[in-house]
Amino acid sequence: MTASTIDTSAAREFDRAEARTAHNYHPLPVVVAHAEGAWMTDVDGRRYLDLLAGYSALNFGHSHPRLLEVAHAQLDKLTLTSRAFVHDQFADFTAKLGDLCGKDLVLPMNTGAEAVETAIKVMRKWGYQVKGIATDQAEIIVASGNFHGRTTTIVGFSDDPDARDDFGPFAPGFVTVPYGDLGALEAAITPRTAGVLIEPIQGEGGVVIPPPGYLAGVREVTLRENVLLAADEIQAGLGRTGRTFACDHEDVVPDLYVLGKALGGGIVPVSAVVADRDVLGVLKPGQHGSTFGGNALACAVGSAVVDLLAPGDFQRRADDMSVMLRERLESLVGRGVVGVRVRGLWAGIDIDPAVGSGRQVCEALMARGVLAKDTHGSTIRLAPPLVISEDDLGWGLDQLAAVVG
Ligand SMILES: *Cc1c(COP(=O)(O)O)cnc(C)c1O
Repeated sequence: MTASTIDTSAAREFDRAEARTAHNYHPLPVVVAHAEGAWMTDVDGRRYLDLLAGYSALNFGHSHPRLLEVAHAQLDKLTLTSRAFVHDQFADFTAKLGDLCGKDLVLPMNTGAEAVETAIKVMRKWGYQVKGIATDQAEIIVASGNFHGRTTTIVGFSDDPDARDDFGPFAPGFVTVPYGDLGALEAAITPRTAGVLIEPIQGEGGVVIPPPGYLAGVREVTLRENVLLAADEIQAGLGRTGRTFACDHEDVVPDLYVLGKALGGGIVPVSAVVADRDVLGVLKPGQHGSTFGGNALACAVGSAVVDLLAPGDFQRRADDMSVMLRERLESLVGRGVVGVRVRGLWAGIDIDPAVGSGRQVCEALMARGVLAKDTHGSTIRLAPPLVISEDDLGWGLDQLAAVVG
């Protein structure tokens, strides 16, 4: 094949893809056909190093052999019963995930936004039935700069105009406080506060890490004030930060873990709220549900994901490689980069505007065979699959240095 036919094939497929979709995304002009581990291959056979990992949905890499094996086997046996009937993958999944979280009960859903909605509903019901808040008065405290998903309720308490504008009217009952400001959060708590919903690290916000002691402080205040704490670990959890949960860095155990993304192994959407009986027990039959939530294929894959996480190897790997990631990125500060934030195998990189926009840097990276994604204009988020080799990561960072330097 000549260079021109190579270009034509990818470009044609890209144009075809863009022609018949709503433009709610602005993808890089790559068309992927195949992927394994940390590498993706496009329709022309060109290889790209994946430094986004499906926004952390692919923590175990593309085509993880064990996850594929489990998924293939389950496909041939049973995929869906609905929750009207119990299937043989359900007990294992709930027991394993509950144990991983150290909690009694698991409520499986599909997408992250559904799990967040579930946590909101559970905290409100707990507020009325256990805490005794007057009907329809419950409040939930959220943080500025949050990203919890795309439903109308959730975007109603976003402060990102793109996420929010012209989608109202929005649901009431949410109070926003500055992220990382414990005093502001404490001051916002009233007798009507049912819960606090917070990302232990704000991924979409640009891998924003709150000040040391903040999460532990939030836990202490919420316990003292009889307010539930829901940690949205959808992006931060399941190994990404070098621990099973980002909350583990401050030895914080929230009342509700909100999980998604990597829980489905990059194969099927699997999300869950995990909490003790005194919290999730407020839901009775008919009060919440999902046709696909907890389906047999999802539970089989989810169980295999928990099996991968249980020994701690992925977490240790992310923690070990974090040292190199941090050193390499910090060496770029002042050389095309104005700031970096690193936790585990996760980094937010603020690009010097003189170099170009985040988008332009990502396009230049793509030309060098590296795929990453900008967020909020000038920030690039790196979230490589946790299976990435040190050599590959180093090579990817070489490309970044060349692009910004
Ligand atoms: C991605 C994400 C969500 C939403 O998950 P979806 O599966 O896209 O609905 C919610 N919270 C956080 C922190 C996320 O990163």
